[in-house]
Amino acid sequence: MEAKIQIKNLYKTYSNGTQALKGVDLEIKNGEFFALLGPNGAGKSTLVKIITTIVHKDSGELSIWGSNPETNFFQIQKIIGVALQENEIDPGETVENLMVFQGRLFGIPREEAAKRANLLIEAFQLTGLRRKKAGVLSGGNKRRLHCALALVHNPRILFLDEPTAGMDPEARSEFWKIIGDMNKNGVTIFLTTQYLEEAEKHASTMALISGGRIHYSGTISNFKSMVNKDNKCSLEESYLQYLDIISKNKS
Ligand code: ADP
Ligand code: MG
Repeated sequence: MEAKIQIKNLYKTYSNGTQALKGVDLEIKNGEFFALLGPNGAGKSTLVKIITTIVHKDSGELSIWGSNPETNFFQIQKIIGVALQENEIDPGETVENLMVFQGRLFGIPREEAAKRANLLIEAFQLTGLRRKKAGVLSGGNKRRLHCALALVHNPRILFLDEPTAGMDPEARSEFWKIIGDMNKNGVTIFLTTQYLEEAEKHASTMALISGGRIHYSGTISNFKSMVNKDNKCSLEESYLQYLDIISKNKS
């Protein structure tokens, strides 16, 4: 069986009546670098939270590597890493401690957790900040810490919800190097981003979500040639044109 993320006919309405997902179908193959694109409020974070079991779906089917993450949570938790858009971290704890605690939470022995924490602190260029409390980090550094925390247990699938928001260009470029290397080593990347040029540069497959519905899923190059036959436009231009078509079809 080919390992993958499979989503069928997923619906979610929040308790205040907001219909966030209206029948989402999606399939992401093992090892893909996938970008979920869509305007604010489209349902991207909701979808990430449902797949990672942080939010419960109303109906629909969900499977990761052939098992249901809601009923096999402990099995799935080991293979996924999640950096949410609005992660909560203890602001009074140091970067170093948070990293080690995270490893311990996943059952990694203390010594190994410390080693892994060191590696990631260096990779994410947090070395100078390791003894600083998380609460005093800048927005960009906090995002890097979130991503480093998501990687402590060596996940095989990594969910990154708008990971580079607030990062400066140098941090971004370092960040994508790390994520690109992970993907080359077979880690599946599920990314949401508002930065279309980042998606175009790093991802190979995508889905476009708007109003809780998937309007396209497939390769980025196919998307661009579908919107513009000559395939000369950037992903951002094609994306904006396509959103325009969607909104015109609605009205
Ligand atoms: P995106 O990540 O694409 O910006 P979200 O998944 O965060 O979109 O939100 C989808 C819709 O659901 C939006 O209309 C948003 O306001 C709403 N929403 C998200 N979280 C909640 C919540 N906890 N309670 C009520 N409505 C929510
Ligand atoms: Mg979001």
